[in-house]
Amino acid sequence: MTAVKSFDVAILGAGLAGRLCAWLLVRAGARVALVERGGPDGTGAAAHVAAAMLAPLAESAIAERRIVDLGMASVDLWRAWIQELPEPVFFQEDGTLVVWHARDRSEVSLFTGRMRAVAPPELVRERLAVLDGAGVAAVEPELAGRFPQGLLLKGEGQLDNRGALRALLDCAVKEGVHCIWEAGDVDIDLLPQFDLRANVVLDCRGLGARAAWCDPTAEPGVVKPGLRGLRGEVVRVHAPDVKLHRPIRLLHPRYPIYIAPKPNDLYVIGATEIESEDDSPMSVRSALELLSAAHSLHPAFGEARVLELNVQRRPTRPDHLPAIRVDQQARVVRVNGLYRHGWLIAPAVTEAACAVVRALLAGDPAAHAVPASLRWPGLIQSVEEPAHLRGTAVPGLGSLLH
Ligand SMILES: Cc1cc2nc3c(=O)[nH]c(=O)nc-3n(C[C@H](O)[C@H](O)[C@H](O)COP(=O)(O)OP(=O)(O)OC[C@H]3O[C@@H](n4cnc5c(N)ncnc54)[C@H](O)[C@@H]3O)c2cc1C
Repeated sequence: MTAVKSFDVAILGAGLAGRLCAWLLVRAGARVALVERGGPDGTGAAAHVAAAMLAPLAESAIAERRIVDLGMASVDLWRAWIQELPEPVFFQEDGTLVVWHARDRSEVSLFTGRMRAVAPPELVRERLAVLDGAGVAAVEPELAGRFPQGLLLKGEGQLDNRGALRALLDCAVKEGVHCIWEAGDVDIDLLPQFDLRANVVLDCRGLGARAAWCDPTAEPGVVKPGLRGLRGEVVRVHAPDVKLHRPIRLLHPRYPIYIAPKPNDLYVIGATEIESEDDSPMSVRSALELLSAAHSLHPAFGEARVLELNVQRRPTRPDHLPAIRVDQQARVVRVNGLYRHGWLIAPAVTEAACAVVRALLAGDPAAHAVPASLRWPGLIQSVEEPAHLRGTAVPGLGSLLH
């Protein structure tokens, strides 16, 4: 018989939120177990395919003020945390360049109008610069003569998502996090199968936690989903003939298209946003649209090599905002709803979640009311979950479970 191992915290899911929480908690002195459906390469996580742009101002054109504020706080945290990782991770804050083709110029006033309505005025004043053709060429010399106008969103960032996932995990393991890989679809009631006992469970399963996010106040037998997947498709190409220095957004009437340069001449071209749970391979239409957009930005993309056509689903709550749900009685904390902003906002969100976990470990009778909850009103929700939400068998959920 294998001996049961005891931990302060068992984290379910080793994607973006799971790895950040493991790293934060082990460094705060907690004994942490990390249990993941897939392997350490993270290929099952939305975080693995993301472009990992850290663009609070650009996102304000499609998101709420809360995302901008969480994003600004998180970029400060990334800047500090990246320095603390033992291996270098590509991270830049050289801004986002926004351009458009003549036929899409009506999108410009929609984009800037929404940005001005949502983002703090001082942020818009400091960061938004309107460029003429010479300005575009000065920022990105390879686009000289191609766009007569553009916008530079100064100071916006991006990082190497896969490098960051790897470095966070390496560091967490070195600090003593106990990992269980290829665990299959784990839920709280299955933890004893892994000979694990934990004082607190921290659920970071992204879309894999869909069953647990059903509305706990719904009548018995009625299932009200509280989390859905939004399909996103991105292409990764190797384009040594293209030399772009920062993420470029191409205004487009259906969805914002971006091209994010990564180290070693890699570019991530994304992303569709489709109201669908479908995780089948990329459609021809999406591949054509994304690759045509890249080619229309810079013809040298015509000679790029397509390395990956990726599909993932963004874990999304009905209000498109993140949430931390705390069941003090059951000692369960759930982090979810990072939607299309996970890389942008995860540091602030996971820092708040870890503050709750530490308060639970310290026996605080009002762990959900840590100072982080005052800083981000509404982010942390205190609930009493019905027992059936804490297990694999959720009656009535049927086809929602994969
Ligand atoms: C195409 C695309 C582009 C994106 N681009 C950006 C961007 O540029 N900037 C940005 O800020 N954000 C971006 N995002 C969003 C970001 O990637 C997500 O918000 C973020 O990854 C969500 O983090 P998470 O930890 O909640 O979920 P994930 O990263 O998906 O991690 C969840 C983990 O839980 C595991 N898991 C699931 N179920 C179980 C189970 N039952 N048992 C054990 N483990 C389980 C999964 O295998 C996975 O490893 C993008 C997303 C997509 C899809």
